[in-house]
Amino acid sequence: SGGPTVASVLLRGHREFADLPAILERDGRTVSYRELGSLARRLVGGLRSLGLTKGDRVVVLTKNRPECFVLDHALAIGGFVRVALSYRLHPREVAEIVADCGARAVIVDGERLAEISTVVGGTLVALDEPAGDAVPFQELFPEREAEPAEVWPGDVAWMPYTSGTSGKPKGVVHTHRSLLSIIRNVLVELPGAASSDVLAHTAPLTHLSGYAMLAYFMRGASQLALGRFDAEELAALVEKHRVTVLPLVPTMINLMLPVLESGKYDVSSVHTVLYGGSPIAPDRLARAIAVLGPVFVQSYGLTEMPWSSWLPKQDHLFDPGGELPPRLGSAGRVSPFIEMRLVDGAGQPVAGGEAGEIQLRGDAGMAGYWNLPEETAETILDGGWIATGDVGRMVDGFLRIVDRKKDMIVSGGFNVYPTEVENAIYTLPGVAEVAVVGVPDDRWGETVRAVVVPRAGAAVTAADIEQVCLDTIAAYKRPRTVEFVDELPKTGTGKIMRRELKARYWAGRDRLVNG
Ligand code: ATP
Repeated sequence: SGGPTVASVLLRGHREFADLPAILERDGRTVSYRELGSLARRLVGGLRSLGLTKGDRVVVLTKNRPECFVLDHALAIGGFVRVALSYRLHPREVAEIVADCGARAVIVDGERLAEISTVVGGTLVALDEPAGDAVPFQELFPEREAEPAEVWPGDVAWMPYTSGTSGKPKGVVHTHRSLLSIIRNVLVELPGAASSDVLAHTAPLTHLSGYAMLAYFMRGASQLALGRFDAEELAALVEKHRVTVLPLVPTMINLMLPVLESGKYDVSSVHTVLYGGSPIAPDRLARAIAVLGPVFVQSYGLTEMPWSSWLPKQDHLFDPGGELPPRLGSAGRVSPFIEMRLVDGAGQPVAGGEAGEIQLRGDAGMAGYWNLPEETAETILDGGWIATGDVGRMVDGFLRIVDRKKDMIVSGGFNVYPTEVENAIYTLPGVAEVAVVGVPDDRWGETVRAVVVPRAGAAVTAADIEQVCLDTIAAYKRPRTVEFVDELPKTGTGKIMRRELKARYWAGRDRLVNG
């Protein structure tokens, strides 16, 4: 049946905010909402000229850039399915996903075009210099604006891919209805979102930032896309463009601390930092708040059910001299439009305050995994509950994400959650980044290992790390071994990949305890 869709709200924005800037380029040039609407309609025509019709999947592989905004508007109003991939995927993985979703076109940037063209057949669109048969993106803008497609709330809008535990890529189906619900959930938590806002996206628009992008387009804001994260560069751009809203992942907040604390740039225009996607060490968060003030808004969610719980600005307030408020370590309250329950291994609700698997339901949840009925049934349970694979606990109405079920370390029969150990280690200023993983051990099954990136010029030792853990958490949780490295493997979204780190130690061994 009919009703509002992402397409209809974007089209409405093109009219409502016609003369306001929608896209902001690094050099200060702007594209108005009217121009954005016109470019998007022309691109719909261009995509149709390639033979694409409503419902066709379009794979997008690019770093953030202004063209992403035009493309996302065009895909929505043309009724195409946006399959935006993590930029760092291996060409083989890209090819697998292209085949899995039956993509009709693959849009790729210059850096990745050559390698992708060797593994992917069919229509390739080059965002930069074309090569081979690739169609140049700029040629997809005929003079005439096309009519938007007739889009229904139940039509598929976005299909991000998640690798999950098995490593097999799974397309997460979001319809216009679920995507619109997600955007609504975001806007409800950001009541101040306004046309005067200026966003700088360094977190990938393919993931978390994509939802924020849509939400702020509904409010008439202007948005800037940055292809890479560089703390110094970002701070300079914030100053130059008086950026007001920054969607960031926790690793970015952490990596920005030195430049924020240096006071070199005027970042006083920022009134909202939207963050989530992985845990943040309370100590690092507190340091960021000390510079920027209580501008932080946290959210917890997953591709299957994004932006589900919220820790608003007022819960980030603290007295710099005093103790950190316990709420700072939580993921906030569950969205009013989402139901949550915590269940034990048998699927029974846990007692108050106990830890259990987080399960969520609401109209912001995915419709299912693309063409994977079994996996869908394992994740969307009876009654519509989505099993998240995360362990959580409620403390005074606030959700604490304990860790992911699959990352739990079982050492000699004791459960150790890596995040707790990492948080303890993050209180050492000499630590730039840390990941805690379980490594094989003949006696204990597995033992706790910390893999540490020291801060440039800082001297931090294994003994310091052991000591800070002994001082703050139970002795059995402390790392038995510490390794110092120059960098940690990260996902395209900037998350530290514990799974990949772990794989290095478990190669050729079966992880019997907690596989
Ligand atoms: P993949 O499924 O592809 O392996 P992923 O598991 O990281 O990747 P996402 O859907 O991108 O998939 O991430 C969701 C997960 O990120 C959640 O299940 C949770 O473990 C973690 N997460 C998200 N937000 C928060 C948060 N605010 N605090 C702690 N953890 C978070």
